[in-house]
Amino acid sequence: MSYQIAIDGPAGAGKSTIAKKLAKAKQFIYVDTGAMYRAMAYYLLQNHVDPRDGEAVGEKSQSADITIQYEKGEQVVVLNGENVNAFLRTEEVGNMASITSQNPRVRERLTVLQKELAAKNNVVMDGRDIGTCVLPGADVKIYLTASPAVRAKRRFDELVAKGETCDLQKIEADIIKRDEQDMNREIAPLKQAEDAVLIDSSYMSIDQVVEEIMAVCRKSMTELGS
Ligand code: C5P
Repeated sequence: MSYQIAIDGPAGAGKSTIAKKLAKAKQFIYVDTGAMYRAMAYYLLQNHVDPRDGEAVGEKSQSADITIQYEKGEQVVVLNGENVNAFLRTEEVGNMASITSQNPRVRERLTVLQKELAAKNNVVMDGRDIGTCVLPGADVKIYLTASPAVRAKRRFDELVAKGETCDLQKIEADIIKRDEQDMNREIAPLKQAEDAVLIDSSYMSIDQVVEEIMAVCRKSMTELGS
Protein backbone atom coordinates (compact mmCIF):
# COMPACT_ATOMS: atom_id res chain seq x y z
CA MET A 1 0.00 0.00 0.00
CA SER A 2 1.21 3.48 -0.78
CA TYR A 3 1.38 6.21 1.88
CA GLN A 4 -0.75 9.23 1.07
CA ILE A 5 -0.54 12.77 2.41
CA ALA A 6 -3.36 15.07 1.23
CA ILE A 7 -3.03 18.84 1.52
CA ASP A 8 -6.00 21.02 0.65
CA GLY A 9 -6.61 24.71 1.02
CA PRO A 10 -7.29 27.98 -0.79
CA ALA A 11 -5.05 29.67 -3.38
CA GLY A 12 -1.84 31.10 -1.98
CA ALA A 13 -1.90 29.29 1.39
CA GLY A 14 1.56 27.88 0.58
CA LYS A 15 0.42 24.38 -0.35
CA SER A 16 2.81 23.77 -3.23
CA THR A 17 5.92 25.16 -1.50
CA ILE A 18 5.21 23.11 1.59
CA ALA A 19 4.14 19.96 -0.27
CA LYS A 20 7.34 20.06 -2.35
CA LYS A 21 9.56 20.33 0.75
CA LEU A 22 7.65 17.62 2.53
CA ALA A 23 7.85 15.27 -0.47
CA LYS A 24 11.60 15.84 -0.67
CA ALA A 25 12.10 15.17 3.03
CA LYS A 26 10.06 11.97 2.89
CA GLN A 27 11.24 10.96 -0.60
CA PHE A 28 7.67 10.83 -1.84
CA ILE A 29 6.33 12.02 -5.17
CA TYR A 30 4.74 15.47 -5.16
CA VAL A 31 1.54 15.73 -7.18
CA ASP A 32 0.37 19.30 -7.81
CA THR A 33 -3.23 18.78 -8.93
CA GLY A 34 -3.76 22.53 -9.38
CA ALA A 35 -1.16 22.38 -12.17
CA MET A 36 -3.29 19.76 -13.93
CA TYR A 37 -6.37 22.01 -13.76
CA ARG A 38 -4.20 24.88 -14.94
CA ALA A 39 -2.92 22.82 -17.91
CA MET A 40 -6.52 22.09 -18.86
CA ALA A 41 -7.39 25.79 -18.54
CA TYR A 42 -4.36 26.73 -20.67
CA TYR A 43 -5.51 24.29 -23.34
CA LEU A 44 -9.04 25.73 -23.31
CA LEU A 45 -7.72 29.30 -23.46
CA GLN A 46 -5.51 28.44 -26.41
CA ASN A 47 -8.51 26.98 -28.17
CA HIS A 48 -10.62 30.08 -27.43
CA VAL A 49 -13.25 28.11 -25.53
CA ASP A 50 -15.74 30.28 -23.61
CA PRO A 51 -15.32 29.23 -19.94
CA ARG A 52 -19.01 29.87 -19.25
CA ASP A 53 -20.09 27.44 -21.99
CA GLY A 54 -20.15 24.22 -19.96
CA GLU A 55 -20.91 22.03 -22.95
CA ALA A 56 -18.02 23.42 -25.00
CA VAL A 57 -15.62 23.13 -22.02
CA GLY A 58 -16.66 19.52 -21.40
CA GLU A 59 -16.37 18.59 -25.04
CA LYS A 60 -13.01 20.25 -25.73
CA SER A 61 -11.52 18.93 -22.47
CA GLN A 62 -11.77 15.41 -23.85
CA SER A 63 -9.04 16.09 -26.42
CA ALA A 64 -6.57 17.34 -23.80
CA ASP A 65 -4.16 14.55 -22.96
CA ILE A 66 -2.60 15.62 -19.65
CA THR A 67 0.09 13.51 -18.03
CA ILE A 68 2.63 13.98 -15.29
CA GLN A 69 6.30 13.10 -15.56
CA TYR A 70 9.16 13.58 -13.14
CA GLU A 71 12.48 15.06 -14.20
CA LYS A 72 15.13 15.31 -11.46
CA GLY A 73 12.33 15.08 -8.88
CA GLU A 74 10.41 18.00 -10.43
CA GLN A 75 6.87 17.54 -11.69
CA VAL A 76 6.52 18.21 -15.41
CA VAL A 77 2.99 18.64 -16.76
CA VAL A 78 2.74 17.36 -20.30
CA LEU A 79 -0.17 18.57 -22.41
CA ASN A 80 -0.64 16.70 -25.69
CA GLY A 81 3.05 15.81 -25.72
CA GLU A 82 4.36 19.27 -24.79
CA ASN A 83 5.91 20.39 -21.49
CA VAL A 84 3.66 23.30 -20.46
CA ASN A 85 5.10 24.07 -16.99
CA ALA A 86 6.27 27.51 -18.11
CA PHE A 87 2.75 28.65 -19.07
CA LEU A 88 0.76 27.62 -16.02
CA ARG A 89 1.50 30.12 -13.26
CA THR A 90 -0.14 33.24 -14.68
CA GLU A 91 -3.19 34.95 -13.15
CA GLU A 92 -5.06 34.49 -16.43
CA VAL A 93 -4.59 30.72 -16.36
CA GLY A 94 -5.35 30.53 -12.60
CA ASN A 95 -8.60 32.44 -12.99
CA MET A 96 -9.63 30.34 -16.01
CA ALA A 97 -8.82 27.15 -14.06
CA SER A 98 -11.05 28.25 -11.19
CA ILE A 99 -13.99 28.43 -13.62
CA THR A 100 -13.30 25.44 -15.88
CA SER A 101 -12.51 23.14 -12.92
CA GLN A 102 -16.22 23.35 -12.07
CA ASN A 103 -16.98 21.22 -15.10
CA PRO A 104 -17.80 17.58 -14.22
CA ARG A 105 -16.11 16.15 -17.32
CA VAL A 106 -12.93 18.09 -16.58
CA ARG A 107 -12.90 16.85 -12.96
CA GLU A 108 -13.61 13.26 -13.89
CA ARG A 109 -10.75 13.15 -16.38
CA LEU A 110 -8.19 14.59 -13.97
CA THR A 111 -9.37 12.74 -10.86
CA VAL A 112 -8.78 9.35 -12.52
CA LEU A 113 -5.19 10.31 -13.25
CA GLN A 114 -4.65 11.57 -9.69
CA LYS A 115 -5.98 8.38 -8.13
CA GLU A 116 -3.72 6.30 -10.39
CA LEU A 117 -0.63 8.24 -9.35
CA ALA A 118 -1.47 7.83 -5.66
CA ALA A 119 -2.16 4.11 -5.99
CA LYS A 120 1.28 3.45 -7.48
CA ASN A 121 3.45 5.84 -5.43
CA ASN A 122 3.85 7.29 -1.97
CA VAL A 123 2.53 10.80 -2.52
CA VAL A 124 2.13 14.26 -1.15
CA MET A 125 -0.81 15.54 -3.19
CA ASP A 126 -2.18 19.06 -2.95
CA GLY A 127 -5.35 20.66 -4.27
CA ARG A 128 -8.88 21.49 -3.17
CA ASP A 129 -10.66 18.14 -2.96
CA ILE A 130 -7.88 15.67 -2.22
CA GLY A 131 -8.87 14.75 1.35
CA THR A 132 -12.59 14.87 0.57
CA CYS A 133 -12.90 13.28 -2.92
CA VAL A 134 -9.67 12.12 -4.57
CA LEU A 135 -8.04 10.31 -1.63
CA PRO A 136 -10.71 10.01 1.08
CA GLY A 137 -8.65 7.27 2.74
CA ALA A 138 -5.39 9.30 2.85
CA ASP A 139 -3.11 8.49 5.83
CA VAL A 140 -2.68 12.18 6.69
CA LYS A 141 -4.98 15.06 5.73
CA ILE A 142 -4.05 18.69 6.17
CA TYR A 143 -6.18 21.77 5.54
CA LEU A 144 -3.75 24.62 5.03
CA THR A 145 -5.02 28.17 5.05
CA ALA A 146 -3.95 31.80 5.66
CA SER A 147 -5.73 35.16 5.63
CA PRO A 148 -6.62 36.60 2.18
CA ALA A 149 -4.31 39.60 2.74
CA VAL A 150 -1.32 37.37 3.53
CA ARG A 151 -2.06 35.09 0.59
CA ALA A 152 -2.36 38.05 -1.80
CA LYS A 153 0.98 39.45 -0.63
CA ARG A 154 2.67 36.09 -1.17
CA ARG A 155 1.30 35.82 -4.74
CA PHE A 156 2.32 39.43 -5.39
CA ASP A 157 5.91 38.77 -4.23
CA GLU A 158 6.05 35.61 -6.36
CA LEU A 159 4.96 37.49 -9.50
CA VAL A 160 7.27 40.46 -8.82
CA ALA A 161 10.20 38.06 -8.38
CA LYS A 162 9.39 36.73 -11.85
CA GLY A 163 9.58 40.26 -13.22
CA GLU A 164 5.83 40.69 -13.78
CA THR A 165 4.09 43.95 -13.01
CA CYS A 166 0.98 43.48 -10.90
CA ASP A 167 -1.47 45.16 -8.59
CA LEU A 168 -1.73 43.90 -5.00
CA GLN A 169 -5.36 44.96 -4.58
CA LYS A 170 -6.42 43.25 -7.79
CA ILE A 171 -4.63 40.06 -6.70
CA GLU A 172 -6.43 40.11 -3.35
CA ALA A 173 -9.77 40.65 -5.12
CA ASP A 174 -8.98 37.75 -7.50
CA ILE A 175 -8.05 35.50 -4.57
CA ILE A 176 -11.31 36.25 -2.77
CA LYS A 177 -13.26 35.61 -5.98
CA ARG A 178 -11.46 32.31 -6.57
CA ASP A 179 -12.10 31.20 -2.96
CA GLU A 180 -15.79 31.96 -3.51
CA GLN A 181 -15.86 29.91 -6.71
CA ASP A 182 -13.85 27.02 -5.28
CA MET A 183 -15.87 26.82 -2.05
CA ASN A 184 -19.32 27.20 -3.54
CA ARG A 185 -19.22 25.02 -6.63
CA GLU A 186 -21.49 22.00 -6.85
CA ILE A 187 -18.90 19.32 -7.47
CA ALA A 188 -15.95 18.71 -5.16
CA PRO A 189 -15.96 22.15 -3.46
CA LEU A 190 -13.02 23.29 -1.37
CA LYS A 191 -13.74 22.37 2.23
CA GLN A 192 -11.94 20.91 5.19
CA ALA A 193 -12.38 17.13 5.46
CA GLU A 194 -13.77 16.11 8.85
CA ASP A 195 -10.58 14.23 9.71
CA ALA A 196 -8.17 16.89 8.38
CA VAL A 197 -5.79 18.82 10.64
CA LEU A 198 -6.23 22.60 10.24
CA ILE A 199 -3.05 24.68 9.94
CA ASP A 200 -3.17 28.48 9.55
CA SER A 201 0.12 29.52 7.98
CA SER A 202 -0.47 33.31 8.17
CA TYR A 203 2.22 33.83 10.79
CA MET A 204 4.29 30.68 10.35
CA SER A 205 7.46 30.12 8.35
CA ILE A 206 7.59 27.44 5.66
CA ASP A 207 9.82 25.28 7.84
CA GLN A 208 7.47 25.58 10.82
CA VAL A 209 4.56 24.35 8.70
CA VAL A 210 6.62 21.46 7.27
CA GLU A 211 7.68 20.48 10.80
CA GLU A 212 4.10 20.56 12.03
CA ILE A 213 2.98 18.27 9.19
CA MET A 214 5.91 15.92 9.88
CA ALA A 215 4.68 15.75 13.48
CA VAL A 216 1.17 14.86 12.28
CA CYS A 217 2.70 12.08 10.12
CA ARG A 218 4.70 10.72 13.07
CA LYS A 219 1.56 10.71 15.21
CA SER A 220 -0.40 8.85 12.52
CA MET A 221 2.39 6.26 12.18
CA THR A 222 2.43 5.74 15.95
CA GLU A 223 -1.35 5.32 15.99
CA LEU A 224 -1.06 2.87 13.10
CA GLY A 225 1.54 0.85 14.98
CA SER A 226 -0.28 0.85 18.30
O1 C5P B 1 -3.83 25.49 -6.64
P1 C5P B 1 -3.94 26.29 -7.91
O2 C5P B 1 -4.13 27.75 -7.68
O3 C5P B 1 -2.82 26.00 -8.85
O4 C5P B 1 -5.27 25.75 -8.62
C1 C5P B 1 -5.85 26.39 -9.72
C2 C5P B 1 -7.36 26.15 -9.72
O5 C5P B 1 -7.60 24.77 -10.01
C3 C5P B 1 -8.06 26.38 -8.38
O6 C5P B 1 -8.54 27.69 -8.22
C4 C5P B 1 -9.21 25.39 -8.38
O7 C5P B 1 -10.35 25.96 -8.94
C5 C5P B 1 -8.73 24.29 -9.30
N1 C5P B 1 -8.39 23.07 -8.56
C6 C5P B 1 -9.42 22.20 -8.28
N2 C5P B 1 -9.14 21.02 -7.64
C7 C5P B 1 -7.90 20.70 -7.29
C8 C5P B 1 -6.83 21.60 -7.54
C9 C5P B 1 -7.12 22.80 -8.18
O8 C5P B 1 -10.56 22.46 -8.58
N3 C5P B 1 -7.67 19.52 -6.71
